[in-house]
Amino acid sequence: MPELIVDNVTRQFPTRGDALTVLRDCSLALEAGQNTAIIGPSGSGKSTLLYIIGTLDRPTHGTVQLAGENPFLLDEPRLAAFRNERIGFVFQDHHLLPQCSVLENVLVPALATGSVAPDLIARARDLLNRVGLGGRLDHRPAELSGGERQRAAVARALLRRPRLVLADEPTGNLDRTNAALVGDLLLEMQKQEGTMLIVVTHSLDLARRFSQQYELDDGRLKQVELAV
Ligand code: ADP
Ligand code: MG
Repeated sequence: MPELIVDNVTRQFPTRGDALTVLRDCSLALEAGQNTAIIGPSGSGKSTLLYIIGTLDRPTHGTVQLAGENPFLLDEPRLAAFRNERIGFVFQDHHLLPQCSVLENVLVPALATGSVAPDLIARARDLLNRVGLGGRLDHRPAELSGGERQRAAVARALLRRPRLVLADEPTGNLDRTNAALVGDLLLEMQKQEGTMLIVVTHSLDLARRFSQQYELDDGRLKQVELAV
């Protein structure tokens, strides 16, 4: 059975008039360790879909199953623990805490568990070495370039060895060179860690490098093949 199953997810938002339907019967399946890119025009529902897969939002209809579990059946504290343990997030904006060092920022997902075990500090250092920030542990985010901040965000997403990493336009704020470097890094780290990776991107260059591609168009998700 696939490790991630998104089954007929529909998302409607209430409005003063008719409900706004943003996702229509979206389905997707991913085996453990696989990666996929989702492309589509602005406003087509990419972030909404990624939020639902990441359990930050709930579908109006349909289900999500991650590692054999339907997270939406969990109560709120268990859902938060599930998300923290199983899912890593990389956003377009790095969402690093400005007052914390790079090392502390990477440890943020561990803080939710109450205490930071020494092995997690070692893990954070190791990840920062691997993303090329081993010499910047004590720096604040403001002292890093945009590409370096996204590298720190990738390390943070991987801290707790999630089964699934979700990235919403992770290279959207970067220049071409840094976008390519962060794209390389995401795919390389995903391979090394054996996690699943779903990236939403406007960049066809990036999307082509994934083993499968989906397109969202007017709320409908379909698998596509991108011409090389
Ligand atoms: P994308 O990431 O592809 O640009 P989004 O998923 O952010 O698209 O948004 C898709 C559509 O859903 C947009 O029309 C947006 O205005 C609408 N939308 C997103 N979130 C909400 C919300 N909480 N309430 C109402 N409409 C929303
Ligand atoms: Mg979006």
